[in-house]
Amino acid sequence: MRIVLLGAPGSGKGTQAALLVQHLGLPHISTGELLRSAVAAGSALGMRAKAVIDRGELVSNEIMLGLIEERLSQDDVSDGFILDGYPRNISQAEALETLLNRLDQPVDEALQIDVDVEMVAMRIAKRAAKEGRSDDSENTVRHRMKIYAEQTAPVVDYYAQKGLLSRVLGEGTIEEVFQRIKGVLQIRSDS
Ligand code: ADP
Repeated sequence: MRIVLLGAPGSGKGTQAALLVQHLGLPHISTGELLRSAVAAGSALGMRAKAVIDRGELVSNEIMLGLIEERLSQDDVSDGFILDGYPRNISQAEALETLLNRLDQPVDEALQIDVDVEMVAMRIAKRAAKEGRSDDSENTVRHRMKIYAEQTAPVVDYYAQKGLLSRVLGEGTIEEVFQRIKGVLQIRSDS
């Protein structure tokens, strides 16, 4: 199964992706993680990306497509994948569709985790204290939320129009949210 996970920064996307990976035995492809590894490795791409990430902006579509294309060409994705953090704008959604059609592996399910903006701000403040991510400072987070609303929220409609979208409420405990996700995937695989 090929799943795209959607949700605002701090929606719990990464946490739920990790649980889904265990549950379905599929690889987790997180563009945030791919970028943070590139930054940590000090590659040319990583150096270019770091400044953009720390400003809370989106890395260019061109760099992202290169990164995702390389990752999706690896052997471990042949049975499916959980894609987390991509696509983040309509242009990326279209590029992904073209790429996956070419690989004959279209998206089966887009899953949106819905959360309240206030709750997200609280969660990110907690994460900032714990993990010290350089893009979790208050100003950067505000900017990331703005970019999400302007550029990423339309991706939800993009998948809705294709009949691929399901939404789950991201509030409650991690386990409660995960149960909702499993319910949605069960419906999709039964239909
Ligand atoms: P979050 O889900 O909390 O926003 P991520 O770990 O997914 O965080 O991403 C961190 C940062 O990496 C983003 O704010 C952005 O700068 C960059 N990034 C990740 N995925 C993409 C993408 N698909 N396109 C452009 N930039 C991206």
